[in-house]
Amino acid sequence: MTPQEVLQRYFGYDHFRKGQEEMISHILAGQDVIGIMPTGAGKSICYQIPALLLPGITIVISPLISLMKDQVEALRQNGIAAACLNSIMSEEERRETLSALYRGSVKILYAAPERLETQSFYRISREIGVSFVAVDEAHCVSQWGQDFRPSYLKIMQFLEQLPQRPIIGAFTATATKEVADDIVRILQLQTPFMLTTGFDRENLYFGVMQPRDKFRALVDIIRSHEGESGIVYCISRKLVENVTNDLHEHGIDAVRYHAGLSGEERQANQDAFLYDRVLVMVATNAFGMGIDKSNVGFVVHYNMPKNLESYYQEAGRAGRDGSKADCILLYNGADVQLNQFMISKDNANDQLSEADRERIRQQDEERLKRMTFYSTRRSCLRHYMLQYFGEKSPDYCGNCSCCKTNYEQKDISTEALKILSCIYRLHQRDLHFGIRVVSDILRGKETERTEKFHFPDTLSTFGIMKDMTERQCQEIIRFLLSEDYLTQGGEYHVLMLNRKSAMFLKDRPALFMNTEKSAEPRPEHRQSAVPADIDQSLFALLKDMRRQIAERERVPAYIIFTDHTLQDMCRKQPVSDMAFLSVSGVGQVKLEKYGSRFMSVIREYLNNKQA
Ligand code: ADP
Ligand code: ZN
Repeated sequence: MTPQEVLQRYFGYDHFRKGQEEMISHILAGQDVIGIMPTGAGKSICYQIPALLLPGITIVISPLISLMKDQVEALRQNGIAAACLNSIMSEEERRETLSALYRGSVKILYAAPERLETQSFYRISREIGVSFVAVDEAHCVSQWGQDFRPSYLKIMQFLEQLPQRPIIGAFTATATKEVADDIVRILQLQTPFMLTTGFDRENLYFGVMQPRDKFRALVDIIRSHEGESGIVYCISRKLVENVTNDLHEHGIDAVRYHAGLSGEERQANQDAFLYDRVLVMVATNAFGMGIDKSNVGFVVHYNMPKNLESYYQEAGRAGRDGSKADCILLYNGADVQLNQFMISKDNANDQLSEADRERIRQQDEERLKRMTFYSTRRSCLRHYMLQYFGEKSPDYCGNCSCCKTNYEQKDISTEALKILSCIYRLHQRDLHFGIRVVSDILRGKETERTEKFHFPDTLSTFGIMKDMTERQCQEIIRFLLSEDYLTQGGEYHVLMLNRKSAMFLKDRPALFMNTEKSAEPRPEHRQSAVPADIDQSLFALLKDMRRQIAERERVPAYIIFTDHTLQDMCRKQPVSDMAFLSVSGVGQVKLEKYGSRFMSVIREYLNNKQA
């Protein structure tokens, strides 16, 4: 079979997505690969298809043991011989998997990195041929990444034990250049083929709101997404508790998830969410890595997260099936301090030297700053984010809160000049201050400090922006920071001039910034997750059939069919096997297993419509 035929037969898709085919052909040719693809881009197929076409078995290393069962189940549903090994299985289940491996009746094995070390696994993997090892969430090997896992370092030892070096593939959604370099170095990839698909997720709307009352804003968002699943991320366990309770009081059914809950409760709540029994999940960032629930319609961040990597990864859990979905960040200045506090006390990684730790702390500060710029900026959010990940993109996307808000471009050349000159004058006197103090000086606010330094009499730039409010003045300073006309540094985040500011002071180019046109509230934004051409009542009937089957088979509904597949069914209304196979996401096995039941729903629906 060709990869294309496997895609059609087992997965029911008729064409590859960007990069998938290239990736697969390099693996089949025996080359190591590294794939950096955003959540939802379709990484799994890049290693699952080679697994079916290569001799012997493929081992997929993943840190997500709580989800392995579902991943394996999803493959089995497609008629693929998959199994897993991890520490949460019973001894008996483990023995079963091992003997299935011996019998040669497994093609894809999902394993937790810590299982690689066990003697029985070593023995088996030496005896059966391992052709390909796919390392999922590969950024976990890097100490610079967000999710460093020491157990990932064991992968190398494991590979060295094998009689023959397998092909190695590394996959991740988040990788800055440093992390990617680390992955290649630590996993010792040999001249790997590297694929970075675009980071953009066109179906996602990105919004930032700065509501007076976050909770009310949250309730509004949830209500406007009635019937859809959503995740609400909070910065602390305590806040998860509070928000969940408050939602209950407002009659909104929600479950909670954080590391302080018992393992059973976490599992139960996660299942309730995955199986669509409860639509809203309120969680800390402990929830979600590898969650491949495909029909999440919205992700709300109740607090600003610590960096754009985390934000994009968490928000990216919305709309994985390609349907339209909303990612909304509820920002408040206090979130910055909360994050700063968390960075300063983060000492989790005690294998590092003091110097390394300091370097990481500085890097975290820098990332937090970029996150803050994102949250407070006035022009295209998507553009800023993509640029952060090193990708060129137009500066208008039309599908983010900035592009959709009524902004006007304001010439701030004069203000910028005043601000930079003021800082320049202060530097001449060897004085360095942060945003607030500099804005006070510009606005001519009399404080103890201004008196102490005799600013009113000795500083020509004192009070040159008297006519501005504190907010306006600070907004321009932040804008200058985000556009790199200023730098911030040191323990007190003092403002500093850089090469770009020097150029500006010399050349005085025109500078524009977006400001909100009117104080009127923004138009209510909401993307509908269900496309307009979908027959809602048929969709509901098909969902109902899916739920019945899912409950009987005890698997999450999306493992039977994703919403995307059901919607395609609504469009095509298939009543023959051939037609049913043409639905996106229907392969041979699913046709045989479920075709007749779904087609009878469609037939009945069509008959009733005619009658
Ligand atoms: P990732 O691991 O990159 O986050 P997944 O591998 O889970 O993403 O894929 C996301 C969704 O896209 C899944 O529902 C998957 O079945 C679907 N998908 C992957 N490849 C294709 C394709 N070529 N055509 C249609 N859907 C696809
Ligand atoms: Zn935009």
